[in-house]
Amino acid sequence: MNKFTVFSLIGYIRIVLIDVLGGTTILKTLTRFKAEELLPKDELKQLSKSRLDQLFHIAKTTTPYYKAASNYEGLEVLEKATIRQSNHEFISSSFKQKMYPKSTGGSTGIPLNYLTTPASRSAMWAGILMSWQVAGYQFGDKVAFIAGTSIVKTNLKHKLFYFLFNIEVYSVYDLSDKKLKEYIRKINESKVAIIYGYASALGHIATYLLRHGPIEFPYLKGIICTAEVLTENTRHQIQTAFFVPVFNQYGCNEAGVSAYECKHHQMHLISSRSYYEVDSEQHLISTDLTNLGFIIMKYKTGDLIEFDEATVCACKSNYPIIKHIMGRTCDIVTDYEGHSLHSCFFNILFRDDKSIKQFQIVFSDTSLKIYLNVDPDLAVEAHYEKYITEIKKHLHFDSYKLIFNAPFLKFENAKHRFVIQED
Ligand SMILES: [Zn+2]
Repeated sequence: MNKFTVFSLIGYIRIVLIDVLGGTTILKTLTRFKAEELLPKDELKQLSKSRLDQLFHIAKTTTPYYKAASNYEGLEVLEKATIRQSNHEFISSSFKQKMYPKSTGGSTGIPLNYLTTPASRSAMWAGILMSWQVAGYQFGDKVAFIAGTSIVKTNLKHKLFYFLFNIEVYSVYDLSDKKLKEYIRKINESKVAIIYGYASALGHIATYLLRHGPIEFPYLKGIICTAEVLTENTRHQIQTAFFVPVFNQYGCNEAGVSAYECKHHQMHLISSRSYYEVDSEQHLISTDLTNLGFIIMKYKTGDLIEFDEATVCACKSNYPIIKHIMGRTCDIVTDYEGHSLHSCFFNILFRDDKSIKQFQIVFSDTSLKIYLNVDPDLAVEAHYEKYITEIKKHLHFDSYKLIFNAPFLKFENAKHRFVIQED
């Protein structure tokens, strides 16, 4: 055996360990997805539909929310607000495995709490692995996550998971030149092979590299952007700065949506994991077919999607091709001293506070305003001051202000944006 196969065998064993210790089936799911994507289109559709029928049956017979439903077609499109209101009604009484609380911010600034299952987690990770493998990932490779990490210290289990996966986390909270210099040194020192991170943060780092470079990354194989819209401009910039191919990955976990870009740069939706529809306004509506514990069906993801039904991809995958994703954008918030912070920071900052129904950050050169939508009884500054303290650690403004239950500002396209820059 040569050095590389021994290396990836050890890497493989590490993922086996993740599966054994965490009760997941990531490797099995990855193998399944790879087999299913080669099925003829019709068979894939049937497969997804029959899984939907099974899920509907479970939902109807074991959850209060779907008790009175007669068929999938008759279900109303599910909004985040409904899930928030009747949260426990989506739990299946027949599901006996452990479930894990998860929350998501999305692009609207309204956090959503839900539960995920070992199968659903496995599907999410298998989908991510598919995207990494296109970029040259081998089991065991060092992966850098450039993302928003939780403010609360991660627990031991989490740390072990990242250790076994060989993932190193680089927080996007501080993207100052000083920090970026340190990140670049660390990426090379620890022989990072794959970078997986927010498109906007990677674009920001690319600009730094182009200003200070050329800087070489001898161990780097490829970069995968996630969580936000990757524009062709940003992709080109990242590619030029890092000298490696850049791919896109897209997911909306609560809806079972997992898509990866193949080597021909087509974005394939893993349609055997989810049952999807697109409404007349191009909203992606989806059902996670792998979450049998906390069942949410016909869920409005908040993303606008355009599919390309006609193209047959040269990679031979029959997973449907996404032509266009319009939706998520995150911005980099910068103060007058040049400290930069990824706007998703705010999503993570507020997501565990159940009293906050929605938020919006409005900033200018001198001031930062936090608009919070909370119950009138809870509109007490003292409770929320801790967030200002946290923000002050990263960004400096002359004034910080909390504003309760005032109407949110609309951005040019009238879509709710949770971070807005004022002149
Ligand atoms: Zn393809």
